[in-house]
Amino acid sequence: MPREMIGCCGAYCKTCKVYVQGLCKGCKTGYDTGERDISKAKCAIKVCCIRRGLSSCADCEAYGDCGMVSAFYAHESYKYKKYKQATEYIRAQGYEAFLRNADCWNGAYGAYNVPAELK
Ligand code: SF4
Ligand code: SF4
Repeated sequence: MPREMIGCCGAYCKTCKVYVQGLCKGCKTGYDTGERDISKAKCAIKVCCIRRGLSSCADCEAYGDCGMVSAFYAHESYKYKKYKQATEYIRAQGYEAFLRNADCWNGAYGAYNVPAELK
């Protein structure tokens, strides 16, 4: 369940204000149960990631060469840099370490403050 709350691009849905307010279903919830249909999803990153059976782009063997995700991360807004940081943190440290940080956030991204000995 916690990993399901990590968006394919690295945004963390569980602490995202829009999700917390009940205005969004989250990136990945409901596709495995049939409540939502991935063929109707608008986000191409999500469609690609879920069709590949991945938890996020962090698990993708094509990550380093993927123009779609690199173009997404190249957008100007600060949040895209943080989503990229999340994905690269997961690739380096794993999901459990990521979640120990992310569960303390107040939005879809945040800081990485968990002491190294707990990672
Ligand atoms: S931008 Fe796409 S991949 Fe990222 S959280 Fe939103 S729907 Fe998921
Ligand atoms: S190909 Fe790109 S968008 Fe698709 S899962 Fe891999 S990194 Fe994500």
